[in-house]
Amino acid sequence: MTDRAGRRPLIAGNWKMNGLKAEGMALTDAILAGVRGGSWRCELLVCPPATLLSLVGERLKGSPVHLGAQDCHPKPSGAHTGDVAAPMLADLGCRFAIVGHSERRADHGESDALVKAKAEAAMAANLVPILCVGESLAVRDRGDALSVVAAQLAASLPARAGADKLVVAYEPVWAIGTGRTPTTADIGAMHQALRAELARHLGADADRTRILYGGSVKGSNAAEILAVAGVDGALVGGASLKAEEFLAIARACP
Ligand code: PEP
Repeated sequence: MTDRAGRRPLIAGNWKMNGLKAEGMALTDAILAGVRGGSWRCELLVCPPATLLSLVGERLKGSPVHLGAQDCHPKPSGAHTGDVAAPMLADLGCRFAIVGHSERRADHGESDALVKAKAEAAMAANLVPILCVGESLAVRDRGDALSVVAAQLAASLPARAGADKLVVAYEPVWAIGTGRTPTTADIGAMHQALRAELARHLGADADRTRILYGGSVKGSNAAEILAVAGVDGALVGGASLKAEEFLAIARACP
């Protein structure tokens, strides 16, 4: 454990819609080969596409790398063609589920209320939701990022969220997949604002809830970003598709 109020950093890889079986297994094996024998200051998590969860999960068994999903449905079962329910993900060995990623908010019109329902469904299935929030470039440019993202968090926050039951990820939309990142001062200010918002809802649990940063994190900028006060790890997209980059980020955890 680090001394961030007991918050152990989490480095989470979001593979998005990438990887056929052979690629997914090769990436998993490369991560496991790199992880073996090391001692890690952080928790490690990979979130493959739904099609690979079962295969990757089998391979990860007995390793320190957790399995997570990229989304879940708000209902536990039923007539929802093509969707995947949280209990199904738990049944495959998932420990976490990303909810409210900006790509889902944009591509599928997911509202804060739906994201909240998904987070609650994940918790009901004993998964830890990784609740994503973040501002658009227009909001950042007009100077409203702190208040808009805090309001997004308040509206998406699951009821009965406690420190061990929730992870928040601050992901500025304009930084995802673009190679651009906010300044470390802006990241720090946002994490402080989000923890204050969490405190309004969770009380003392806010100090023990991990808040990740996500958006163009890579091996070369990870140390600087992960050293920002209040940053408890990273949600990593593109760089998580290369085992060496992903592990370089994990090694950069303070
Ligand atoms: C993401 O999709 O959550 C993400 C942070 O992507 P990238 O690291 O590629 O910016």
